[in-house]
Amino acid sequence: PPHMALQDQVAVVTGAVQGIGRAMAEILLRNGAKVALLDVNEAAGKSLKEVLDKQHGPERTLFLSCDVESEEQIRAAFQRTAGALGAVDIVCNNAGVLNEAEWEKTISVNLVAVVRVTYIALEHMNKMSGGRGGVIINTASMAGLFPLLSCPVYTATKYGVVGFTRAMAANSTALGFGIRFNALCPGFVQTDILDNIYERLGQFSQLSAETQVFVDKGVLKTSEVAEGLLELLTNDTKNGEALQVMCSSQKYMKFPVFT
Ligand code: NAD
Repeated sequence: PPHMALQDQVAVVTGAVQGIGRAMAEILLRNGAKVALLDVNEAAGKSLKEVLDKQHGPERTLFLSCDVESEEQIRAAFQRTAGALGAVDIVCNNAGVLNEAEWEKTISVNLVAVVRVTYIALEHMNKMSGGRGGVIINTASMAGLFPLLSCPVYTATKYGVVGFTRAMAANSTALGFGIRFNALCPGFVQTDILDNIYERLGQFSQLSAETQVFVDKGVLKTSEVAEGLLELLTNDTKNGEALQVMCSSQKYMKFPVFT
């Protein structure tokens, strides 16, 4: 049964048109929320919007072409969301990349942009400045809790996201933002990031065989990560959590992937 708590709530999801972000959008819609889908991939965004319009009705979603590296585009996306769907209650900071060769880009999208989107979201949601409060969920990773050896910079960004989430949760409690902050920490999930991982390890590509051993044991479906999102959204006691989402084979992941 749908969670009534999410009925007509307004959610912003970044990196929403495929992979984990798409599964997040779908579980939000199935539970009665309205969703703004933010992504740089316009072609995929437009076709996803068509699919979702048929399933849920055109007024339930909005596709917004938005690069989370651009403050201006994020501000415009929040304004358009508020105008078309209503005041924002939920933000899922999910857009992310894995590229150890283009490591500065990885830091920019995975960490700097999470801070940027969060601070703009606060301007809309913070009870201290007239907002209604809400929930902000950041897609970190198991690599935010244990090192993924072949990906030191990706690991650093995800540790950063977990740290930022916990500090913001504490801040929110201390200052009365009325916003809960939580992080999702999935193991390997079947998405494009995982499909292309071995081309993006840069100077650490010699570790790909070791990583593959763990991938071969089993990966999560995006819908399983979305179930974790639902738990963090609907359980009011969760603030400052880093929720681990793993399939049974991943519970035994140790060296050399995670140590
Ligand atoms: P994905 O590549 O399928 O999806 C990422 C989405 O983000 C894409 O739609 C892409 O267009 C979008 N995006 C990338 N850069 C953007 C930008 N600058 N602005 C706006 N949108 C942008 O990958 P995914 O696996 O679904 O990744 C989603 C999140 O999950 C990422 O933060 C990733 O680090 C995290 N994660 C993935 C795994 C995994 O094994 N796949 C595991 C743990 C965490």
